[in-house]
Amino acid sequence: MASSTSMANNPAFARIPPWVKAKLRPIAIEKIQQVHDWVETECIPAERIYKAQLGANRWSTPAIIHELRKKAKAQGIWNLFLPNHFVESPGLTNLEYSCCAEIMGRVYWAAQTMNCHAPETGNIELLAKYCTPEQKKRWLYPLMNGDMSSAYSMTEPDVASSDATQIGIKMEITDKEVIINGRKLYGNCQYNEEMQLFILMGCSDPNNPNAWNRHTTLVVPAKTKGLKQVRNLTIMGYDWAPEGHGEYIYEDVRVPIENIILGPGRAFEIAQGRLGPGRIHHCMRLIGQAERAYELALVRCIDPRKKPRGKLIGEFDSNIERIADMRMTIDGMRLVVLNAADTMDLQGNKAGRYAIAQSKIMVPNALLKVIDEAMQMYGGQGLTQHTPLPELWTYARFVRVADGPDSAHRHQVGRDQMKTAPAFRKRAEEYTNRYKELCKKWGLEAEEFWGIV
Ligand SMILES: Cc1cc2nc3c(=O)[nH]c(=O)nc-3n(C[C@H](O)[C@H](O)[C@H](O)COP(=O)(O)OP(=O)(O)OC[C@H]3O[C@@H](n4cnc5c(N)ncnc54)[C@H](O)[C@@H]3O)c2cc1C
Repeated sequence: MASSTSMANNPAFARIPPWVKAKLRPIAIEKIQQVHDWVETECIPAERIYKAQLGANRWSTPAIIHELRKKAKAQGIWNLFLPNHFVESPGLTNLEYSCCAEIMGRVYWAAQTMNCHAPETGNIELLAKYCTPEQKKRWLYPLMNGDMSSAYSMTEPDVASSDATQIGIKMEITDKEVIINGRKLYGNCQYNEEMQLFILMGCSDPNNPNAWNRHTTLVVPAKTKGLKQVRNLTIMGYDWAPEGHGEYIYEDVRVPIENIILGPGRAFEIAQGRLGPGRIHHCMRLIGQAERAYELALVRCIDPRKKPRGKLIGEFDSNIERIADMRMTIDGMRLVVLNAADTMDLQGNKAGRYAIAQSKIMVPNALLKVIDEAMQMYGGQGLTQHTPLPELWTYARFVRVADGPDSAHRHQVGRDQMKTAPAFRKRAEEYTNRYKELCKKWGLEAEEFWGIV
């Protein structure tokens, strides 16, 4: 029970900063404890079982995941990500969910056991926000229920997709249907039978003078005629089965106009809506992944079998400092993510834009270095399947690109910051004017001050 859960000396809450603890409501305390117990007892010990089952059939979801999903749902640790302003939400704020998501991140697939994985989280939020009641029945509730999975398909190989106005896959809208032709990159693999729908963004009105009204978002059932997966895209050599990432061709694919979400030409309204908390779920989980890497590094530091020059790895000053840097980096990045979540809760997603970008830019870059150092401390084994470190590193690397490259976010932050320059210039002029007055008063000759005369 929530009220009986104590946060003091409790490992589930050990890393949560005091200002966040002060904001956690009983329901959140209960869920964080449950998620912690779940990951510690059901997921981490089962990592090898998952791998063994996946080895037998790479494109079907391992039996252990099906079993865990049923159990997690029965325990009420399900769809926790959906923020509490949605009617369908289990009730957590973004800040409270961040604490859960970090713990989920400790095992790559743990979020999936709780239906809190990408791209489901972003897709469910999108469908909950923009679908009609009829559409919700067809797509939202089965996804929330875990009866199927979905893909989000925006990126294309032939344009710079980080500028979504360039998305070019053709959507011809007739009275009854939409005819789709073009190519797409990414979006989960069709090979997995559970993946049953694509949320697709395409260009339906290329000549519209307003570039933001040219695109439409709709649902394409995975088995639609003319839709072909060309290959699985490996990410740095990993196939990321059983979900994976696909490359797709659309050849005269036809879907009914009832599959359009919100209306023709309204894809950017939807894309904006999708830019909320879903954008930093990867960052939240990455904190948990980095904690795992850090713990592995500590374990290696005191491994009695590994004593170069007669000393434990952790007895070398350089490694003691390395551990300190890793610890402080993770704690710093956690503050960045929690601040983004809290800003969204307090001021909304739009006002949270800077904090979200700050997370997207800083967190994967900083944590890549943490995981890299852990790998280094493990020596040759650190780069092999003897540890989860290579997969953790790859995940951190892909977060630098997925959901928009960090360079694009940096560009946006920089442009916004440039807009603040005139106000600083004005203040500098005011300081200069005041300085001139003071010079007069004290009988000094005014000199050029910060380049302002
Ligand atoms: C693991 C993974 C999973 C993904 N999953 C999905 C998915 O499910 N669905 C989906 O649709 N897409 C997915 N993507 C694709 C991802 O969202 C795109 O790759 C990303 O948005 C960039 O688009 P692009 O590849 O077309 O690169 P481009 O837009 O061509 O950009 C290439 C590079 O140009 C530079 N650049 C771009 N814009 C700027 C700027 N404003 N300022 C400075 N430099 C800039 C950056 O270095 C950038 O990396 C996934 C990607 C990865 C790696």
